Amino acid sequence: MNVTNNREKVDVLSLVRSDMRTPKPYEPAPARSGCKLDCNESPWNLPENVRAKLVHWLESGENLNRYPDSDNTILRQAAARLWGVEPSNVTCGVGSDQLIDMTCRVFLEPGDCIVTQSPTFGMYAVSATLAHGRVIAVPAEGPGGVKDMARAAERERAKVVFVCSPNNPTGYAVPQSDIRFVLDNTKSVVVVDEAYGEFTGESMIGSIGEYPNMIVLRTCSKAFGLAGLRVGYAVADRRMIEIRDMVRPPFNISTMSQLAASWGLEAASEFSARAAALNELRDELYGCLSKIPWLETRRSDANFFYVGSERDIAAILEAGGVVVRRLPMDGNSYRIRLSVGTREENKKVGDILCGAQPS
Ligand code: PMP
Repeated sequence: MNVTNNREKVDVLSLVRSDMRTPKPYEPAPARSGCKLDCNESPWNLPENVRAKLVHWLESGENLNRYPDSDNTILRQAAARLWGVEPSNVTCGVGSDQLIDMTCRVFLEPGDCIVTQSPTFGMYAVSATLAHGRVIAVPAEGPGGVKDMARAAERERAKVVFVCSPNNPTGYAVPQSDIRFVLDNTKSVVVVDEAYGEFTGESMIGSIGEYPNMIVLRTCSKAFGLAGLRVGYAVADRRMIEIRDMVRPPFNISTMSQLAASWGLEAASEFSARAAALNELRDELYGCLSKIPWLETRRSDANFFYVGSERDIAAILEAGGVVVRRLPMDGNSYRIRLSVGTREENKKVGDILCGAQPS
């Protein structure tokens, strides 16, 4: 076979699914160093006791030549203990991203739709599109917004409704009464994404018995500070877990991630204290940002802010060594999403923005 000739003959792009040929719809934040406030991560590394367990485990010559436990047993048990549910109510993913993807793959047929808030976390739309689904994005933060989501879901016979609370990027938590309104008024699967739930201390997990159509997503990537392990979990009625596990790849979570995340979940009280500390830092940072007249800063129930301005805030911060996420709006404008960092990092943000001369 003549490889050079083949190179000329085969247009690989033409073999790609036609709806995938445009540039990627979700661009994850590039890996960058510096004062990294772009991904809503915890600013603090592993607690010492979890790190010590991990080091001990590695030193004791564990069998990384073997595949991990495909059932993620210890991880499911740790999550189940934390929430007072059964391990059969839990399934785990390579981050909650994989759980979102699994949900779309198992429920959507070509042309089926999902309903989301607008704006919201981009991966719902990406996963739905990959599953040949359609996305109905409903501005949901004004009065009656969540009711509009429920109405849209009924009108469009949506298969899945994603309610993100607190919502990324706006930072607002959706009141539980509103989430119940959606659950009580749709026949869809309702995914309640609580990726930032530790910052409100609230969860819908206690209601999984009432709503067999609800899936609650949690992640170890945010308040738990384990984003590098890529572990998320879903809690739901047992039947719902079985359905979703139909599309879960075998051996999806590495042995090391299963272990370290389960130790992290066992240390949940330590992480709750960290979430409370981060909430205090958030409120201090809000006090600073809200005094800057050329910024439009909203309060937040999570560990990040959604900030608008006529000025190029991302460029101003980047020039000072602080990396934030740009989120495009209509036209050429954009807002930024700024994670809450350590006190020193937040001070740096405040100093840069306060020192930026009015244009
Ligand atoms: N849900 C929301 C609302 C998020 O903001 C994110 C990450 N930015 C995720 C889910 C995915 O997190 P992970 O895959 O790290 O669990």
